[in-house]
Amino acid sequence: MFFDIGWSEAVIISLVYFHITAILFSIYYHRSVIHNLVTYSPKTIKIFEFIASITHEQNIFLLRGGHLNHHQYSDRPGDVVSPHVSGWKNIMVYPIFRKSAKLIISLIPFTKNTSYEKIFFVIMNIFLFGAQGVMISFLMYFFIYFFGNFVFDGLAHLPYVGYRNYNTDDSSRNILPFGLLAAGEELHNNHHADPMNIKYSHKWFEFDIGYMYIKILEKFNLAKINYGKDQSI
Ligand SMILES: [Zn+2]
Ligand SMILES: [Zn+2]
Repeated sequence: MFFDIGWSEAVIISLVYFHITAILFSIYYHRSVIHNLVTYSPKTIKIFEFIASITHEQNIFLLRGGHLNHHQYSDRPGDVVSPHVSGWKNIMVYPIFRKSAKLIISLIPFTKNTSYEKIFFVIMNIFLFGAQGVMISFLMYFFIYFFGNFVFDGLAHLPYVGYRNYNTDDSSRNILPFGLLAAGEELHNNHHADPMNIKYSHKWFEFDIGYMYIKILEKFNLAKINYGKDQSI
């Protein structure tokens, strides 16, 4: 192994990995593929797609359809990812088990569901970090499922954490004013109030690191901000 690390360092590395996957979700899938607020250069998309092959297994058309539905019918019948419509366990808990089972199956070689990118990722981590590499890999996947389902599909629409800037028709909430770990998705109520705004931070005390990454990519001509060309919502 290359790096001899302790368990706490392993957790930190998993969180760094998770942050990279959150950037991918927020600035590519969410703000570009789903809402068409920004367009990336073909090379940037290739890098995003490679990371996605390791970290995500969603069908992008289902993801886009489900998400646009979520905006249109938010927390009302027709919204397929609302804890108020489908029940909190069906949104926040069971999908984590389903996705974990799918992940395990995808790591079995020579089946039609095998993901060689994911196997490569786990082996790379074992090579880099020894036994902790296994934990780092699985913890990263757990963070993806936990934040995606439990936090953003669930908690971000329940009245237990965070705050609301806007009295939207749905029950969306900003989880935190600083969109750091999940690349800006923490500012969920702001996004529901103004889905065509590429910047999720709306108040002086809020910060959207995903927007900062997009501005950096734009500086290097790797991204072009469209600002609401897609009026599908
Ligand atoms: Zn929402
Ligand atoms: Zn959205």
